[in-house]
Parts: sequence; C-alpha cells; structure tokens
Amino acid sequence: MVYEYIISTQRQNFYNITGQVCEALSKSGVSNGMCIVYCPHTTAAITINENADPDVVRDMLHGLGKAFPDRPEFQHSEGNSSAHLKSSCVGASENIIIEGGRLVLGTWQGIYFCEFDGPRTRKFYVKIQ
Ligand code: ZN
Repeated sequence: MVYEYIISTQRQNFYNITGQVCEALSKSGVSNGMCIVYCPHTTAAITINENADPDVVRDMLHGLGKAFPDRPEFQHSEGNSSAHLKSSCVGASENIIIEGGRLVLGTWQGIYFCEFDGPRTRKFYVKIQ
C-alpha cells in the first residue's frame, strides 16, 4: 500500500512526520515488514533524527547552510543549487523496520520532511509492505 501526504512548507525547515507515517502503518494493517518514506522532490529530503530538542533541527539547518552555501560560481539558472546539494546529501527516502505492528524507531528518533527551498506545497509517500 502507498499513502500520499501533502505538506505546506516554509522557506527552510524540518517537519516531524512521524505521526503521519504511524497513521499510514495503522491503516495498512501490516504487522511485520518494511516502511519506505519517500520524497519526490529535488530540493527537499527525508531524514531520521532527534525528536526531543528542537535545537537539533535548528543546528542541522545551520550546519547544512555552512556546508552547502550559495556560491557565485554556481550556474543553475533557478539559483537554488545549495538546496539541490542539501537534498542529495540528506537523501530522498528512509527505510524503517515494522515489527509487531510498530515502527522500530529509537526513543529519540523522529522522521522528518526536510524543506530546503520553500515555501512550497510538497508531497511525500509512505509505502508499507
Ligand atoms: Zn533548481
């Protein structure tokens, strides 16, 4: 089963989508298997990281901005090459094990949709098998 979700984003931010992924798992009725969370965009990404301290997301955005700044030598006419770099570096998907009808996530892990070039209306997909 594949479930589609729509998300409205700010310029740059991480959005905790763990609740939507758990909802998709619950709808599917699958007890044991795999969950793929996938983002069909070239300037956004999916990651798993800390869900407790919001400073972690702020620091990650800051660190990614330092690692992939806009550079005058970039040639892409849309002017968002640093967002494309962040998207490929973080990755378009995550796989999560399903065991006993639950996602096997650590206590401090959350699943995030990462926006690097908003504001936009975005989609992500949850595949349960
Ligand atoms: Zn572009």
